[in-house]
Amino acid sequence: SSSSSTGGKARRVRVALRVRPRKPTEQDECLALVPESASVQIPGRDGQWQEFQLDNVYGPDTTQRAIFDANVRPMLDEALTGVNATVFAYGMTGSGKTFTIEGTAEHPGIVINTVMYLLAKRTHANDFSFSVSFFEIYCENVIDLLAATRPTSSGATAPSGNQSASGQGSLNGSGSKSLDIRTGEHGEIMVVGLQSVAVGEYGDFQRAYRKAAENRSVAATNLNERSSRSHLVIQIHLKRKRGPGKAGLRAKINLVDLAGSENNRRTGNKGQQLKESGAINTSLFTLGKVVDALNEGLPRVPYRESKMTRILQDSLGGKAAALIIANVAGSKQSKRAAPTSAASRKPMT
Ligand code: ADP
Ligand code: MG
Repeated sequence: SSSSSTGGKARRVRVALRVRPRKPTEQDECLALVPESASVQIPGRDGQWQEFQLDNVYGPDTTQRAIFDANVRPMLDEALTGVNATVFAYGMTGSGKTFTIEGTAEHPGIVINTVMYLLAKRTHANDFSFSVSFFEIYCENVIDLLAATRPTSSGATAPSGNQSASGQGSLNGSGSKSLDIRTGEHGEIMVVGLQSVAVGEYGDFQRAYRKAAENRSVAATNLNERSSRSHLVIQIHLKRKRGPGKAGLRAKINLVDLAGSENNRRTGNKGQQLKESGAINTSLFTLGKVVDALNEGLPRVPYRESKMTRILQDSLGGKAAALIIANVAGSKQSKRAAPTSAASRKPMT
């Protein structure tokens, strides 16, 4: 059977490039953005510039607000009509993924802008409600960050490659429960037992966000190491009330801070098989394959090959709107991270 849940042509996944400001210790940029044509030029081995086409490119001066307004707000408006939406931040560790998705107190990122936008919408037309869930995918375990964490036994680390037993949720090495994933009657994907918190005002969101951050740090022996290997998913569940002349509807908005892409480059070239190694992140690797399949219009989309793509099966492809923001540090060091392969529609991993 086809892995795709809809018969119609799947929407392609858009890719935007965001170059963050260079730090004083970093070397000069070795890529040139061409905003007019939404492309980027990178020096090739032969000294010639190679140009790659994207859907949008953003230089170091681009504000959080500009990224949100141009890319995310239209997706939220679609979500309010029942269309699922997903925004990924992709890139190497240090490239700006967390800045893009979460941001800082001074420069709030997509998550906070999204919550504020939805809350503002509600004051105008109070015909929908929403709740928020936070989970992490780590070593192919799905960990609810709003569930109470059990204290980790001293010295315990999550074993890499630990798979959740099928059937019931199971315990991983750090004592957190890995949640199961199910498909509902209408093709909707459910993470079984995932907690969510209703957001009626900003404080509701803030409390949940804090709890999720605390749980994430409790689970980590080293938070930086953890965030470079795990995917953080902030999932918003929208529900519009039934009213006169209005049908009820539901939509999901997924905001994803992906694991660092540094360990997931394909070894060799020309379609050579990826060398299996413990460093490979199954969800990140499979996301690349899913995006390729969607954007090349392939009949089979391998959603079921990883936890993340399985969870996002109803929010990626089909009629769902999806965007990858590929983050690049813009310094020489990060040249290899430039998601040029995604731009040229070759595998992104
Ligand atoms: P990642 O999550 O990809 O590892 P971070 O988001 O933590 O990377 O970014 C690395 C550093 O660069 C952080 O100190 C962050 O605040 C800063 N940074 C990233 N993007 C930007 C940006 N667009 N403008 C200003 N500072 C940024
Ligand atoms: Mg990060």
